[in-house]
Amino acid sequence: MPLPDQVPVVVGAGLAGLLTSVCLSKAGVRHALLGPPTPPDALRLGESVDAVGSLELAALLPELAEHLIRKDNVALHAAGGQCSVLDFIALLSAPRVRSSAHGLFGLPRSTPWLFHLQRYGFDPALFERCVADPLVSHGPQRVTEVEAEGDRVAALHLEDGAVVCPSHVFDATNHVRLLGKAFGVPPQLLGGPKVTVFTRYLRDDDGCDHLTGPNWLRTSHLMALTEARHGFNGLVWCLPMPGFVSVGVSLEADAARPDDATVLDVAARAGVDRGVDWRGRYPIPGPVQALRHQYFFHERPWGGNWMMVGGSAFTMHLGASSGVSIALATARVAPGFLRRPQAVGRRLEGYVRRAIAAQETYDLLQYSEQVDQAAVERWVHEGIQRVTNHAALCGTPAHRLAGNLGWWMLQRRLLTWPGFGCPDALFTLPAGEASIGWMNAREGTALPVTERPPLALGESAG
Ligand SMILES: Cc1cc2nc3c(=O)[nH]c(=O)nc-3n(C[C@H](O)[C@H](O)[C@H](O)COP(=O)(O)OP(=O)(O)OC[C@H]3O[C@@H](n4cnc5c(N)ncnc54)[C@H](O)[C@@H]3O)c2cc1C
Repeated sequence: MPLPDQVPVVVGAGLAGLLTSVCLSKAGVRHALLGPPTPPDALRLGESVDAVGSLELAALLPELAEHLIRKDNVALHAAGGQCSVLDFIALLSAPRVRSSAHGLFGLPRSTPWLFHLQRYGFDPALFERCVADPLVSHGPQRVTEVEAEGDRVAALHLEDGAVVCPSHVFDATNHVRLLGKAFGVPPQLLGGPKVTVFTRYLRDDDGCDHLTGPNWLRTSHLMALTEARHGFNGLVWCLPMPGFVSVGVSLEADAARPDDATVLDVAARAGVDRGVDWRGRYPIPGPVQALRHQYFFHERPWGGNWMMVGGSAFTMHLGASSGVSIALATARVAPGFLRRPQAVGRRLEGYVRRAIAAQETYDLLQYSEQVDQAAVERWVHEGIQRVTNHAALCGTPAHRLAGNLGWWMLQRRLLTWPGFGCPDALFTLPAGEASIGWMNAREGTALPVTERPPLALGESAG
């Protein structure tokens, strides 16, 4: 079927492109989606979702809830073994947090907890949903050339020789930065080049006591490795899910380090020391991969009739769990961009600038020998600022006003973390027994798969 001309075109069928397509469809906009689906055997990354992403995603796509895996906490493990835990259930059930997230900033009350996204199930199901929509014309071809007229995209040339003349273009090509390159907009780099070494460990059942088993299973783990203790500096992530755990280590690309298998081995032993024995629970090793990459942002991620969405607008520290929420936020404003490109484009610029301000906090956490209380509180504070930033980009005019005001007050410390009425949601575990004990405390006994409680999406966070 030939692709239509003079309709909006989304380039890239990864997460950001698909979410943009969903948002355009929900707004009743006929559009084209270009690019191949991700191959089924490709390793998929980006499972840990932050508060904004969890609440928005659960509300946007309740039909895909089976791929949202409950997580209750995030644990920041210092290299010395101490650990700060942020308890999301306590946080999301605190009345002041709940009412301001929903009432002031317009976030939906769609889930009482946060998620790990099971991307192996979620991404293909999302792709099927998008291409089955009668408003979507999907072409699996790649775009090979962009024809520009001033600050507008006039035509897109496809690999099969076809030419499409779009009304608007949403660039969802991630680090390819199709339109950034076409319009000569250089990326601003955030820090030096990184290498991420990652893998999955699997088990041959689905680990069905995920909801009732040890606390560490319902937790996103970030773990500092330091040269002094571990032989190299790095930040480990460990994201347990039913059936597999996603593990990776982020390192400075140009620093000395052992081979990839040894890096993962050191990380696993650091996990065992903290009571988080992922290789014990998920004994089947998956393939090891290494990815060289660099964080960047675009000061102006939009033009006359084009906008960058998701990772092509900017990418920041993996530990920020923000790739999914960036994709969601930029997708949500796509329909508005069609009507008011200048206004939405300028809001997008502000959103990017505010979001990347948190980048250096992850470097502080990464090199922590002991829990750095100030850095941890700064991390939580910035997590709350992310909610206000999201509202300032995506909300109704009233929510945008509240989002900007909230950001300003947080920035000037006129609002602070204990002022949110849930200081107990953040606590520190000392190194050794206490930390290991908390990680391995169980909630009741295991349930058979069929008796697993549903996620209860749509339920009020109260
Ligand atoms: C190691 C690692 C760990 C991460 N962990 C997390 C996490 O825990 N939480 C989180 O929220 N985020 C995380 N992220 C980020 C998250 O994975 C990404 O933000 C998200 O998947 C990016 O989605 P995207 O759609 O922007 O890019 P992609 O998924 O890369 O999609 C880009 C698409 O564009 C297509 N494309 C490229 N060029 C063309 C062209 N010329 N024509 C047509 N199509 C084209 C590609 O085929 C691809 O389908 C992680 C990232 C990495 C690398």
